[in-house]
Amino acid sequence: MHKNLFPDSHYDAIIIGSGIGGLVTATQLAAKEAKVLVLERYLIPGGSAGYFERQGYRFDVGASMIFGFGQRGTTNLLTRALDAVNVSLEVIPDFVQIHYHLPNSLDLKVERTYENFLQNLTSYFPHEVKGIRRFYDECWRVFNCLNSMELLSLEEPRYLMRMFFQHPWACLSLLRYLPQNVGDVARRHIKDPLLLKFIDMECYCWSVVPADMTPMINAGMVFSDRHYGGVNYPKGGVGQIAQKLVEGLIQTGGQIKYQARVTQILTEKGRAVGVKLANGQIYRAKYIVSNATRWDTFEKLLPQEKILANEKKWQQNYEKSPSFLSLHMGIKASSLPAKTECHHILLEDWEKMADPEGTIFVSIPTLLDPDLAPVDHHIIHAFTPHWIDDWQGLSVKDYEAKKEKAARRILERLEKIFPGLDTGLDYLEVGTPRTHRRFLGRDDGTYGPIPRRKLRGLLAMPFNRTAIPGLYCVGDSTFPGQGLNAVAFSGFACAHRIAVDLG
Ligand SMILES: Cc1cc2nc3c(=O)[nH]c(=O)nc-3n(C[C@H](O)[C@H](O)[C@H](O)COP(=O)(O)OP(=O)(O)OC[C@H]3O[C@@H](n4cnc5c(N)ncnc54)[C@H](O)[C@@H]3O)c2cc1C
Repeated sequence: MHKNLFPDSHYDAIIIGSGIGGLVTATQLAAKEAKVLVLERYLIPGGSAGYFERQGYRFDVGASMIFGFGQRGTTNLLTRALDAVNVSLEVIPDFVQIHYHLPNSLDLKVERTYENFLQNLTSYFPHEVKGIRRFYDECWRVFNCLNSMELLSLEEPRYLMRMFFQHPWACLSLLRYLPQNVGDVARRHIKDPLLLKFIDMECYCWSVVPADMTPMINAGMVFSDRHYGGVNYPKGGVGQIAQKLVEGLIQTGGQIKYQARVTQILTEKGRAVGVKLANGQIYRAKYIVSNATRWDTFEKLLPQEKILANEKKWQQNYEKSPSFLSLHMGIKASSLPAKTECHHILLEDWEKMADPEGTIFVSIPTLLDPDLAPVDHHIIHAFTPHWIDDWQGLSVKDYEAKKEKAARRILERLEKIFPGLDTGLDYLEVGTPRTHRRFLGRDDGTYGPIPRRKLRGLLAMPFNRTAIPGLYCVGDSTFPGQGLNAVAFSGFACAHRIAVDLG
């Protein structure tokens, strides 16, 4: 049937972009012997999970707190994605997910051992001992359901039926949590307003919205997997994940082209049939998958009149989150206090949690893998939300001056948790939302979609199929959202749906 429908399609699927969502789709399809081509606009794969090198330092451009590398269950999607194309990565366990430095002298470590974490938190809120356990135990219920079943496309009825017959209670339970947000669940168990603020931060630091707007399904994954599969750092840096997936893709017969910027998704009779590159080259395929954000896909790669009613509806529910101001630093190892943890969150005023330059996120991956920096040195990535509008229309001189001023402000605040950081500074590169837009190819450099208001959990988040036949989306603007393990989930689902469509 498909041969007649697609007479001159050389490929089964073309994937626009080699972020982790795109690469998991591509490798899953290649492992099923589909003919796949990945087109990446940049020089290397990975997108927000890429890397760059300067003066002997290897920096992660974005992600460095990595879930999905566990060895058990079904939610270890990065381990599984690599396995599927016969490659693997050495990972280094991180025994503290985050060291929080919060207002009200809340200085708390989220340890890998669940009971230790509960103890740490309860020592600040002894009157909430029961509520704390009940709340986090409820997150485990979500996780245990997810972790008991194969995670594939929720747009595939036969898979859904199979899961329902194999795991009826888990499916019913997940259906119950799908429309729920963390805030409502937390308030059922917890009364202390300060503790509820802490739960807000527990959500904000990966969803970039407070608990009331963070879906319970995503929280179930993050709040439990950190104690189950754990947070693990790939040896050689986060960029290795994409490099290995590409290695596996090529070994299984897939192809990837770099510096191949797609400027147009071609349609015929309303169906997506191919893509056009900036150099004019055209490629055709039975199915086109966009790993670009939804804003880039529907507003830039398709003609404006093709912005469909359901995309407009989606935009009424979701908006672009801010981008980030990033400080990539190389520092002398002696300038870090002993026993420093890898990941930190710094906030001095609860009211400013979600403001630009409110919360500062810090990662020091060389504490896990020292080979990413010259001997006796560390890398630090400190980043904080920023809007692109604040960085537009500046002369080169003003842009540089503004970067320097902003970097100074961040460094001053970091001095409180890392005294002597400034004097130990060996290298500093500042990235703005413009940098994120330019190098990651993401509209306004956004971190991804966030709800405009309180929605019903994940119910409004789209799956992989779009209203244009033959066109699929994958990555963080599809179910279940941001984060490497989440976009890997989206990649598994997308490849599954396409494999079924390919017959
Ligand atoms: C600063 C920062 C810190 C983060 N920290 C974490 C963390 O600690 N843990 C975690 O799990 N997640 C983290 N994330 C989120 C995570 O990195 C992302 O959610 C995830 O990497 C997004 O993957 P993706 O597949 O959706 O697409 P992307 O990573 O956006 O990749 C899309 C790819 O498509 C390419 N592309 C786009 N348009 C075109 C085109 N027209 N033609 C060809 N190619 C194109 C891009 O160049 C890019 O390579 C962080 C993100 C940022 C920015």
